[in-house]
Amino acid sequence: MDQSTKGEIRTPGFNTLAIHAGAQPDPTTGARVTPIYQTTSFVFDDVDHAAALFGLQTFGNIYSRITNPTCAVLEERVAALEGGTAALSVASGHAAQVVAFHTLLKPGDEFIASKKLYGGSINQFNHAFKNFGWNVVWADPDDIKTFESAVTPKTKAIFIESIANPGGVITDIEAVGNVARRAGVPLIVDNTLATPYLCKPFEHGADIVIHSATKFLGGHGNSIGGVIVDGGTFNWSREGRYPMLSEPRPEYSGIILHETFGNFAFAIACRVLGLRDIGPALSPFNAFLLLTGIETLPLRMQRHCDNALKVAEYLASHKQVAWVSYPGLKGDRYNQLAKRYVPKGSGAVFTFGLKGGYEAGIKLVSDVKLFSHLANIGDTRSLIIHPASTTHRQLSDAQKTQAGAGPDVVRLSIGLEDYEDIIADLEQGLVA
Ligand SMILES: *Cc1c(COP(=O)(O)O)cnc(C)c1O
Repeated sequence: MDQSTKGEIRTPGFNTLAIHAGAQPDPTTGARVTPIYQTTSFVFDDVDHAAALFGLQTFGNIYSRITNPTCAVLEERVAALEGGTAALSVASGHAAQVVAFHTLLKPGDEFIASKKLYGGSINQFNHAFKNFGWNVVWADPDDIKTFESAVTPKTKAIFIESIANPGGVITDIEAVGNVARRAGVPLIVDNTLATPYLCKPFEHGADIVIHSATKFLGGHGNSIGGVIVDGGTFNWSREGRYPMLSEPRPEYSGIILHETFGNFAFAIACRVLGLRDIGPALSPFNAFLLLTGIETLPLRMQRHCDNALKVAEYLASHKQVAWVSYPGLKGDRYNQLAKRYVPKGSGAVFTFGLKGGYEAGIKLVSDVKLFSHLANIGDTRSLIIHPASTTHRQLSDAQKTQAGAGPDVVRLSIGLEDYEDIIADLEQGLVA
């Protein structure tokens, strides 16, 4: 067909990008699925090519700690799905946070974080990050003024989750983004629970997106991984507050990363400084599994959300259940924010409270059969955990309640089984 009669070339839709972005048939073998490039290192064409690679004058592969062709497809795909300019894949969600903050902060600097976050991130910020001299200042996502008043001259970033783990909290991304812009710092959004299928933080003022790909992106509970996505929106050179990006790099013959790489300089800095020196590279095998998972992301996420809403409605009407925290429920305090930020569904991770308290919580996780009792989310399988007796057991009762993990709280991650079977399992568990 004559190309000129076909009109404009369509921008591929989300479903198409989930399957194709970043991938093409292998140039040497024709393999249609992205191969697992299970190799540590890559042969140089000649001495000049090697020199150009090491000097960042040309793109290419040197060593799989820094780049790998299987990981590169994953990076391009997640960047495309989020609408970012570039991405970097790393060994875990926590590694993504270390590498991203390492690019932004020097010892003595501060960042502001929502206090409603995944418990592992609260630990990482309170302990490991403090050892690096990176000081977290907590703010309340239900009161945006607390972000504003936490800003100091040392503030270098603001960090929130779009849908906060253990679920139920939707953050007003645009409002926090406005605080970040006034402060002249980037907004980092952990989009793990929403995924770009439900929410694209860059459309709401985020500058950087972080993922634990371990959860819904991979989606099958088989691989740990993380991704950093560069929105390409932030001016790293203004006021020289981000010297890794705005000052000459001696090891790369004096180039300035922001000047040379423009709107994907943050992703480059995370790779050629952070990943290079800290080292949490993603294995190409995990990248392969994560890529396979992402091909069905839109289908899975919609089913996760539809199932979760059914289960939340069932629990909300159960006489042994005191409360359900799921933003998709009418009347939930986050229902309006959910309609604005996650109109297709409120994700599949949420908490509810049992009238029978701690004992009832322990009993339910012991009596369910279809649900797996474990510490993960975002699997095809339905998962359950009683935080007070597991992930949050070392906290005081007051701390547990503050973290949304009081003695009566049960967390669910709703899978892709028939929702009737999921509900039947909870029903027999609650009766038992
Ligand atoms: C699990 C999780 C992380 C940490 O990711 P890992 O892959 O386990 O290191 C970060 N943020 C959120 C919201 C998570 O659920």
